[in-house]
Amino acid sequence: MTSTPALLLVEDDPELSGMLSGLFGDEGYLVDVARDGQRGLHLGLTKQYDVMVLDRGLPAVEGLDLLTRLRRSGVHTPVLILSALSNPADRVDGLDAGAEDYLGKPFDLDELLARLRALLRRSSDSSEVLAVLGGRLDVSTRSVQLTDGREVPLTDREAALLDVLARNPRRIFSRADLLDTVFDGSGEDNLVDTYVHYLRRKLGRRVVVTVRGLGYRSGRP
Ligand code: CA
Repeated sequence: MTSTPALLLVEDDPELSGMLSGLFGDEGYLVDVARDGQRGLHLGLTKQYDVMVLDRGLPAVEGLDLLTRLRRSGVHTPVLILSALSNPADRVDGLDAGAEDYLGKPFDLDELLARLRALLRRSSDSSEVLAVLGGRLDVSTRSVQLTDGREVPLTDREAALLDVLARNPRRIFSRADLLDTVFDGSGEDNLVDTYVHYLRRKLGRRVVVTVRGLGYRSGRP
């Protein structure tokens, strides 16, 4: 995490999103605002944030659906849901969809800010590292630290693919499995091959092993 944490706010209410983005800016966050779920999904997948604040009732892509899609694409940024749907069952749905925290509307501004600070503290404590052939994948920064000390930055999709393979080093994944897990089931099978190619170009041929007729697995670290 940098000293200026990047925050994505996905909130369609113009008054609330204006007020919150001003508040977050005053607190030292670098704020991007998305006013619908589609835009939120696009920003969440393409830019790197330290924390996200998500509304649930959103145009285009509903908040929990947005969250599920981010998590399936390997985006592990801490998420706080801010929603008028705030009975216990709603909160359970939100947390089960992958949110780290849930605050009902109306809410107290100081409590919201304190919860965001707590999320940032927790995520900077628990940066996750996975062994890959020739180095270590830092899940939070989406980069591979090679054994010779060099750091290789990955794109979100490259990191998500390597994450899935490295988390299950003994498992052979079919292209369809990977397409579903990493690419949300959209696209052609050769999308997986393309990203395997990108990973090999950055990290060496053996980082991903082709298992003929079956698919791919992680190179043995
Ligand atoms: Ca809303």
